[in-house]
Amino acid sequence: MGPRILFSAPEDHWPLWRPHLLAAFADAGLDVTLTDDPSGPWTFDYVVYRPGGPVIDFAPFERLKAVLSLWAGVESIVGDTSIVVPLCRMVDEGLTRGMAEWVAGHVLRYHLGTDAHVLGQDGVWRNGVVPPLATERTVGILGLGELGRATAALLAAIGFRVIGWSRAPRELAGIETRSGASGLAEVLAASEILVLLLPSTPATEGLLDARALAALPRGARIVNPGRGTLIDDAALLKALDNGHLAHATLDVFRQEPLPAAHPFWAHPKITVTPHIASETRPETAATAIAENVRRGEDGLDFLHVVNRAEGY
Ligand code: NDP
Repeated sequence: MGPRILFSAPEDHWPLWRPHLLAAFADAGLDVTLTDDPSGPWTFDYVVYRPGGPVIDFAPFERLKAVLSLWAGVESIVGDTSIVVPLCRMVDEGLTRGMAEWVAGHVLRYHLGTDAHVLGQDGVWRNGVVPPLATERTVGILGLGELGRATAALLAAIGFRVIGWSRAPRELAGIETRSGASGLAEVLAASEILVLLLPSTPATEGLLDARALAALPRGARIVNPGRGTLIDDAALLKALDNGHLAHATLDVFRQEPLPAAHPFWAHPKITVTPHIASETRPETAATAIAENVRRGEDGLDFLHVVNRAEGY
């Protein structure tokens, strides 16, 4: 008998995911039993998982081989002590491409000074300001994981000088890379536009504090599709208000949805987007899930296993 797979996510996900998962399992040559019904004998081999579905405790799943997250960011799952098998995070081609495109759009908005024309159309012919070429602009990226690397590659292909930072040293073609505390200082000092693609972990909490923000060049812009916890909100508001930073585009927040009364909404130097930078796309993500099930059935190591100690 093939593997038994439980899909546990909010109810509206099942009809969206079921056909793609079934097709992907068939393409992978897997004869699976796939259900969204958690009742009956809990003899599932895999749980495809997102919080908000029927499974709230993994302890009864005694045969489980892995938990396959529908999310790339696993900060709300990683502390679940009832998960004693590998927890795999989502790495999905569609999610990755979507993020790189979203970041490129917002970086180009800043780079080209698009707002001056889109928002400032007032009948005055101001043609004196020519934007620099991308080759004359440095974009920093904190986080060189699946999303950070793809974003860095797209920005570098446009022509930007890209300098990135990760926990462990990395070598990437066409991208300058740094790691460690001194590396962070170098990246901050160089970044006219800073993109945050780090996970939310104890080590990244409040990383962009008053000191780090002050280390950015005057007039720098921030694009944050990573997590709200990366930034000290009060320090950010202060740096925008005192003119050190020019603008911030924020997609993620410490509290989501961002409360209507939050000062970010009305701030003239902040663009708020509602956690839409990129999304796991069933069409492509189902293939990633099937690949991990196939590996599990073939006795191979799972892909994208979360390091529970590091939290990502
Ligand atoms: P990865 O796990 O692939 O990459 C994380 C990167 O961050 C790695 O380069 C890692 O370093 C680096 N990192 C982690 N901790 C530290 C640290 N303490 N100091 C320095 N670098 C660190 O994640 P993804 O690229 O797939 O995703 C990144 C984040 O994007 C997710 O965790 C999630 O929060 C967010 N996200 C947001 C979405 C949105 O729509 N807004 C959608 C999807 C994800 P190293 O390479 O050394 O391991």
